[in-house]
Amino acid sequence: MKFITDYTLEELQRELEILGLERYRARQVLSWTYRKNTTDFSLMTDLSKGHRTLLKEHFSFHPLEIVERVSSPSATKYLFRTLDGHVLETVLIKERDHLTLCVSSQIGCAVGCTFCATALDGLKRNLTTSEIIDQFLQVQQDTEERIRNVVFMGMGEPLANYENVRKATQIMVSPWGLDLSKRRVTISTSGLVAQLRRMAEDPVMREINLAVSLNSPTQAGREKLMPLTKTNELEELMEVLRSYPLPKYRRITLEYVLIKDVNDSEEDARRLVRLIGRYRKRFKVNLIPFNPDPNLPYERPELKAVLNFQRILWENNISTFVRFSKGAEVFGACGQLRARREYVKITDL
Ligand code: SF4
Repeated sequence: MKFITDYTLEELQRELEILGLERYRARQVLSWTYRKNTTDFSLMTDLSKGHRTLLKEHFSFHPLEIVERVSSPSATKYLFRTLDGHVLETVLIKERDHLTLCVSSQIGCAVGCTFCATALDGLKRNLTTSEIIDQFLQVQQDTEERIRNVVFMGMGEPLANYENVRKATQIMVSPWGLDLSKRRVTISTSGLVAQLRRMAEDPVMREINLAVSLNSPTQAGREKLMPLTKTNELEELMEVLRSYPLPKYRRITLEYVLIKDVNDSEEDARRLVRLIGRYRKRFKVNLIPFNPDPNLPYERPELKAVLNFQRILWENNISTFVRFSKGAEVFGACGQLRARREYVKITDL
């Protein structure tokens, strides 16, 4: 089965032409799909009955099925099942004045961060473009308010699934697609150096926000927490980020999960200051106190240690924010996305 959400406008135009339809029909179908949030050909009333039947025979919309939904006051976690039986997770985060959708890009993850629940399962496979877009469409259909922010911070390393994430991003930010602002789509990566270089040259990808999980200011510290950094060295990573072509008024976010007695010391904060050095205008730092997980051997630092870490960065004129991940109650917070049916309270759909 082919999915409409796998295609860019140009690709769909070509597909429809092969079926004998005019190219402009592609725009009509995508407008129903992304503007009017209608994923039923029979409701697409500006198409003839014959065309609707033809399209229905060849295309479908949803490669995912919602199997569970778990809500807390600050977040809703959706569990989706793929056609081949994998389970993936998406979290809708309710901020004060907007909604942010945290999407997954892979089933599991190969990066193997030792503080991350997703890593426990290893990598099963990449998600397709339609599986990424369908997370947005189905959550939007389930939500009254418009979703305007997307972060690729769910299961998986998005840059390890570059082509599919790129196309999903293109669909998200194009006027014929979901038409989100480029400033409101964020790729969060563990720091794959070669892929970041590729992203820097890519007109679609370099326009969106970039967040990099740093988690330690030293090569040795990063290797302990994020095994993949053995081949993606800190010095090389910083070199790429220092010369990354940033759009005007944009900064790169350095994500730093603070773990008690692992990377939360004053010395770590000072090393981070030195690492950023004179490039402080290029970066902002998000400090994320670790969310305890029954399967992981780490603890959350005391609030005092978190604020002390932040103070040292502030004193050195580095914009630093403390982010208490929303959704920890439903195990949908940073590094905790994983199909965890055993821990969640199931709500009826
Ligand atoms: S934190 Fe992100 S990159 Fe690291 S293992 Fe988890 S999902 Fe993968």
